[in-house]
Amino acid sequence: MKNICLLGSTGYIGTNALKIIKENPERYQIIALGGGRNIDLLLNQIKEFKPLFAVVINSDLANELKSKLSNTTNTEILYGTKGYIEIATLSDVNMAIAAMTGSSGLLPTFSAITAGKDVALANKETLVMAGSLLINESKKLGVNIYPIDSEHSAIQQSIQGHSREDLKKIILTGSGGPFKDFSIEELSKVTPEEALKHPKWKMGRKITIDSATMMNKGMEAIEAKWLFNVKIDQIEILLHPQSIIHSMVEYMDGSIIAQLAPTDMRIPISYALSYPRHLKVDLPSLNLLDIEKLSFGKPDKKRFRCLDLALAAGKTGESMPAVLNGANEIGVNAFLEGKIGFLEIPQLIEKTMEKHETFAINSIHKVIEADQWAKSMAKKILNKMVGK
Ligand code: MG
Repeated sequence: MKNICLLGSTGYIGTNALKIIKENPERYQIIALGGGRNIDLLLNQIKEFKPLFAVVINSDLANELKSKLSNTTNTEILYGTKGYIEIATLSDVNMAIAAMTGSSGLLPTFSAITAGKDVALANKETLVMAGSLLINESKKLGVNIYPIDSEHSAIQQSIQGHSREDLKKIILTGSGGPFKDFSIEELSKVTPEEALKHPKWKMGRKITIDSATMMNKGMEAIEAKWLFNVKIDQIEILLHPQSIIHSMVEYMDGSIIAQLAPTDMRIPISYALSYPRHLKVDLPSLNLLDIEKLSFGKPDKKRFRCLDLALAAGKTGESMPAVLNGANEIGVNAFLEGKIGFLEIPQLIEKTMEKHETFAINSIHKVIEADQWAKSMAKKILNKMVGK
């Protein structure tokens, strides 16, 4: 039985993880739920899964949730970063699902690892910001990190049973997002509503925008670098619009191993929870006869600058990936609020990166320092861009 703390229970990954958990009550038990602002959904989750603890973002929401619960359960309600850290490190918990969005997941995820909990990681920003630290700590403490990301789940499946020294490269595939064939001119006019419609995957807002800019693919390269101990140069990025192959690994003899599956996040979530087993997920089989062809293409780094910026940050290392991530969060928010255009997201990130002098990431405080530096610099640059 796995005792689970679910961080980010009301988001897209969180709600799908709960479906998997509900279908396997003999394997998984929810000990704690970390929600955010959607307390009505969290309330229903508490009633259904009866966790020992639940966490919301602030004290006002905690009070509101308590009054709505009115002694119907024994669930203790906590709030804020302290609350998320407390549930991620509970002695009863042996696995944390890290499904919070962006940099908010950093401290709870790091705390779970340092407390020796296995982590099913959907919050890729955490690895982008603090990869070396997280991997070093997890190795030291014998903690396993299982990716909840379709590409990395595919890679993990493709390296199982093979010798790591035989690995030549990772081929990271991506659909290319909703604008893969747009010209620079068309990209400059893209609206948040258009960017929030992904052709293949249903996901949260932040990652959907990151997919449209291809920042997501760049971050996935950094994620793969840490999870599978490869160099950025050993990762090839390939467009694959059908999203049937979720990534591949090439070996020294030229053999390529790929994983194919329907585009449904319940598959990587289930595998992260049940590794190395492939438990039943209630989905129709992939119908290969319906798929006329599998096609591949090269990403255009001119039109999708974010991809190049992420790869450059991944190569530079040290504090640069955290700076990339912080500036991206500011850029994505500004785009969603209608303050800047789609093509100004990479401009903002690039200008922020140019101003940064990298430093070593040897403690969690250094990660936070890089994140805060990036966000405040990006805000200054943003104010200039919008003429404030
Ligand atoms: Mg992915």
